[in-house]
Amino acid sequence: MASAPVRNPLVGFALAILSAVLLSAVAGFASTFVPYLEFRIFSLGVALCGIGALAGRKTYLGTLGFMGAYLGSFLGFYVAEVLFWVRPGVDILLLALGLALAAGLGGWVTGKIGVAKLERAAQFAPGIRRCSSCGARVGTSAHKCWSCKATLTY
Ligand SMILES: [Zn+2]
Repeated sequence: MASAPVRNPLVGFALAILSAVLLSAVAGFASTFVPYLEFRIFSLGVALCGIGALAGRKTYLGTLGFMGAYLGSFLGFYVAEVLFWVRPGVDILLLALGLALAAGLGGWVTGKIGVAKLERAAQFAPGIRRCSSCGARVGTSAHKCWSCKATLTY
C-alpha cells in the first residue's frame, strides 16, 4: 500500500498545470518570431492544442485534463504575451482565453483516453482493481475506497 503504483489524481492535476504553464510560456515566446499576427495565432492554436494534449497525459480524468491544460496554458501564455509581445494589436486577454481553450480541448481528449485505458485495464484484470489515490485493493463495484475513503472514479 505504501508504494502506490497509481498516481494521486491531484498530483497529476498539479503536474498538468505546471507543464502547461511552462510549455505555453515557451510557445508564447517563440511565437514572437512568427511574422504575421493571423499566422501567429493559428500556429499558436495548433501548438497549444498539442501542449494541452501533453499536459493532459499527466492526468487520467478528462475534466482534470481540460482544467489543468486550460488554467496552465492561460497563465503561461498570458504571462508570455505581457512580457514579450510588442503591441500585438489584439486584446491579449481574450486571445489568451481563446488559445487556452484549444489547449484545454487537447488536454480533455488525452485525459479521456487515459480513462479508457484504465477501464480496459480494469476489465482485463478483474479483482485487482486498485484505489487511484492510495493503491489499496478495492472491490470491482466499490464507489468509495475502504482505506482512504477516496471516491473511486473508474
Ligand atoms: Zn484509497
